[in-house]
Formats: sequence, C-alpha cells, structure tokens
Amino acid sequence: MNMNVEQRLLRINSSIEQACENAGRSPEDVKVVAVTKYVSIERAEEAVTAGITHLGENRDTGLTEKYEAIGNRVDWHFIGSLQTRKVKQIIDKVSYIHSLDRHSLAVEIDKRADKPVNCFVQVNVSGEESKHGISPEETSGFIQSLQELENISVIGLMTMAPHTEDETFLRSCFRSLRGLQEEVKALGLPHAPCTELSMGMSNDFHIAIEEGATFVRIGTALVGND
Ligand SMILES: *Cc1c(COP(=O)(O)O)cnc(C)c1O
Repeated sequence: MNMNVEQRLLRINSSIEQACENAGRSPEDVKVVAVTKYVSIERAEEAVTAGITHLGENRDTGLTEKYEAIGNRVDWHFIGSLQTRKVKQIIDKVSYIHSLDRHSLAVEIDKRADKPVNCFVQVNVSGEESKHGISPEETSGFIQSLQELENISVIGLMTMAPHTEDETFLRSCFRSLRGLQEEVKALGLPHAPCTELSMGMSNDFHIAIEEGATFVRIGTALVGND
C-alpha cells in the first residue's frame, strides 16, 4: 500500500460514511483526529494539506515540536497519559485533553488554564490492567467530584479498546462507554455536558462509529507509523 495521506484520507472518509450509514448517523457528527505521534512534522503537514483539522499527540515533547511548526491552523488534542508536571507545557496549546483520569490531574489543569478546557474522562472499560483510565463504576462519581473546578469541562468520555480482532468484544466495549456517557449526560451537570465519545483507532474506528463515536483517533491508517 503505497498511498499518500490524501488517498488514505479518502478511503477513511468512505469507511466513515459507510459506518454512519449502517448506524443511521450523519458523517458530520464524526471528527477525525489525525494521530501524528509516530511521524515527522512533514507528514503531519501533509495531513493538514489533505484537509485534516484536528491533530493528536501523546507526549508533551511531540506536541510542542509539531505545534511550533504548524500552530493554530488546527485544533490540538492531547491523547496520551498526562503527567501532572507536564500540564504547564501543553495547556496553552491544546483544545482537548482526552486522558483525564485522576483528581490531581484535574486540579492541575484547572490551576494552569485560564479558561475552561475541553476534557474527556478516560475510562478503562475492558478492565485490562495495562490500560489507563478509571473504572466504569467510578466514572460518574469522579465526574461529580470535579464540579468545583471551574476550568474543567467534561465534554465526553474516552476509551482505548483492547488490541483484539474480536469484533463482538470491541463492540461491547464501545457500547459500555456509550452507556456510561448517557448516564453522565442524564445527571445534567453544568460542568459535564458529556455529549462526545472519543473512541476508535485505525483498526476499529468503523465499529466505534457504529456505536456512537464522535471523535475517532487515527494514526497508522492515515499517516502511517514510521
Ligand atoms: C497511538 C494512539 C492512537 C492511534 O492509534 P493507531 O492504531 O495508530 O490508529 C489513538 N489513541 C491513542 C490514545 C493513541 O495513543
């Protein structure tokens, strides 16, 4: 497969359209975050030229380097596990943080930000020990505990599904996250509208979209991984 980013994006967009059609959804409700953590600045630029408007990085160093080259032409997403001491490095650059998973991190984001930050609470729905994120049982209590932090806006939930080909299991993970999202949304908390779902990567985004994803995070299939 020797396709450039533009050709890959066309293919991804047509899978997105197909998945939306299967689920009776509108493709406009699904945003692609191009995950550029494996690739060069040039490759990330190529994605922007192809029409990508959301870029995701999982380290403060990678984010800073690409942000300095590309700047505010796109919205920046921090998608990796975030050390509290790194918050000040990224806070002025990102529009979204996908990995809010503990109270101390929320406190630091709240302190460093000068306006509300769009946050996803990361949930470990599969229960795999290697995965970051809080447990499904703790999710709504955790979100309620953030009420006092005026710069935290919980716009949705995020998960990383296990690395498996088992479509039934993947689907059940995404469906669980959707169920939790509905639960949180129903609480009607002003600081947690929880309208978004960040789920789905290169291998499973079509399933995630059928189950309600509004942000898919795609690296390998879009920009490659070398
Ligand atoms: C790397 C990464 C992705 C992208 O993974 P691909 O399989 O390359 O699409 C998505 N989300 C997170 C949190 C990641 O770390």
